[in-house]
Amino acid sequence: MSDRLFPSPDVPAVPVAGEDALFPVHRIFCVGRNYAEHAREMGAEVDHEAPFYFLKGAYTLTRGGATIPYPPGTQNLHHEIEFVVAIGKPLFRVTPDQAMTAVFGYATGLDMTRRDLQNKAKDKGRPWDLGKDFEHGAVLSPVTRAEAFGEIARQRIWLEVDGTLRQDSRLSEMVWSVPEILADLSRYYHLQPGDVVYTGTPAGVGAVGPGNVLRGGVDGLATIELTIGAAE
Ligand code: MN
Repeated sequence: MSDRLFPSPDVPAVPVAGEDALFPVHRIFCVGRNYAEHAREMGAEVDHEAPFYFLKGAYTLTRGGATIPYPPGTQNLHHEIEFVVAIGKPLFRVTPDQAMTAVFGYATGLDMTRRDLQNKAKDKGRPWDLGKDFEHGAVLSPVTRAEAFGEIARQRIWLEVDGTLRQDSRLSEMVWSVPEILADLSRYYHLQPGDVVYTGTPAGVGAVGPGNVLRGGVDGLATIELTIGAAE
């Protein structure tokens, strides 16, 4: 067997809540504009034809509780609190009902966003990667097993910055439901165990800077914390 030229690390992983096991994270899918009020605050409308997506590389994953450096290339780093679905079985071309049998569990996530770079990309009709897919940009809490969480209903989703409430909504406000999102994604990808889906953020996104402490959660899941450190 040939030797690899340099170390190639294993994929990152997050704890399973209350267990020793780790959930390895492969692909990170993110849904855009899945809460009507957030779409409006971004100056956009929800597209009712189909959900749309962007991806973040697994190397962007950061566990909740971390301190991250203020990322390079931006003057406008935003928080987006999100409900995250962790997939535990393969999924391909399934109906919404079938899709839910592949859900391993749920977590609280932060889709950190370099908003100035994302807006510039939008204006020019370019991809969002510079705004979304950057180191430490996908923050994730431990994963709670689906059976422990129960049905997705009116659970509260919220985020505080330094103790001030910034985002506060309900999972029932999602435009596209989790079964609909998974079924739709499965038309385009062979979803695999370890794939996770960030399901969009409610209204109230805003800027954070060095020294800010973010704390957020979803009823029934582990809360998430993130401290923004000095710029690199
Ligand atoms: Mn988002």
